[in-house]
Amino acid sequence: MLRLAIQKSGRLSEDSLNLIRECGINFLSASYKLKTEATNFPLEILYLRDDDIPGYVQDGVADLGIVGQNVLVEAGFPELEVEGLGFSKCRLSLAVPRAAAYDSIQDLQGVSIATSYPKILGDYLAGQGVRANLHTISGSVEIAPSIGLAEAICDIVSSGSTLLGNGLREVETVFRSEAVLIANQTLSAEKQEQLEQLQFRMQAVRRARRNKYIILNAPVAALDAVKKLLPGIKSPTLTPLAEEGWVSVQSVVNEDDFWHITSQLKAVGAEGILVLPIEKMIS
Ligand code: ATP
Ligand code: MG
Repeated sequence: MLRLAIQKSGRLSEDSLNLIRECGINFLSASYKLKTEATNFPLEILYLRDDDIPGYVQDGVADLGIVGQNVLVEAGFPELEVEGLGFSKCRLSLAVPRAAAYDSIQDLQGVSIATSYPKILGDYLAGQGVRANLHTISGSVEIAPSIGLAEAICDIVSSGSTLLGNGLREVETVFRSEAVLIANQTLSAEKQEQLEQLQFRMQAVRRARRNKYIILNAPVAALDAVKKLLPGIKSPTLTPLAEEGWVSVQSVVNEDDFWHITSQLKAVGAEGILVLPIEKMIS
C-alpha cells in the first residue's frame, strides 16, 4: 500500500484532499487523526507538517508526498519531484522598506536579509554574485526590518498585501512555486505501478479542470467558422436540429480561451451556448 504524506492543516491541506477525492479515492477524514486508509485504492494518507514531508519521503517513511516546491527545494531534495499539481502558486520575493533606495540586486551587497529560506536565497544571491548576511528565522519575517533585525527580507508572496501592510516593497522574484507530487526514489515495482495509476487519475482530473464542455446551436452557413473556433479534442460533434438549416455543435474548450471564443462564436451566429464542467478527461 502506498503511503502519501500531506499537510495536516495549512494552505495545502484542502486542495490536496480535494485532488485525492476527485481521483475517486474515498477515505474518512477526521481532524484529530494522523492517518487514514482509503477504502477503494491501496493508499494510506499521513497528515504531517509540511516541513517534514520532503525528509519523510526521502527516507521512505512515506512513499509519496504533496508539498510546496519552495519547501522541497529548501529541504535540498528537488530530485523527488514527480509532477506539478497546479495549486498553491506563490513566489519567494525579496522586499525592502518602502523608502529604501533600490536600483538593482547589487544594492543588496553586504545587507542583512531575514528569511525562512536561506538555501534558496543563498543560491540565488550567489548566482547574482551578491554576498549578503542571511538571518534565518522561522516566521513573521515581514516584521524583521521594522524591529531592526534586518534591512531586507525574502519571503512568500501571493498578493503582496502583507508586504504593503508592513511598509515593504517587493523588488525581486527569487523563486516561483506550486504544489508538487513527490515520490521516494526507490519504490518497489508494485508501488511504482500504483503511483502510475494515481498519476493517471490526477492528470485526468487536472485536464478536466482546465477544460469546459460546450454545446451550441449554429446555422449551417456558419459551420466552417464555428469549427475553426472549436477544434475540440479531435473535431467537434455535429447533430442536426429538428429545424432545418441548424446544427447542434459539441466540443471542448480550454478555460483560458473560453470567454474569448464564446464571444467570437456569438459573432458568427451561434445561439443557445451551454457550458458544462467536465469531471474527468482522459487523453
Ligand atoms: P505547517 O504548519 O504545516 O508547517 P506552514 O505555516 O509552514 O505550515 P502554510 O502557510 O500552510 O505553511 O503554507 C504551506 C505552503 O503553501 C507554502 O509552503 C507554500 O508552498 C504555499 N503558500 C504559502 N503562502 C501562500 C499563498 N499566500 N498563496 C498560495 N500558496 C501559498
Ligand atoms: Mg511549514
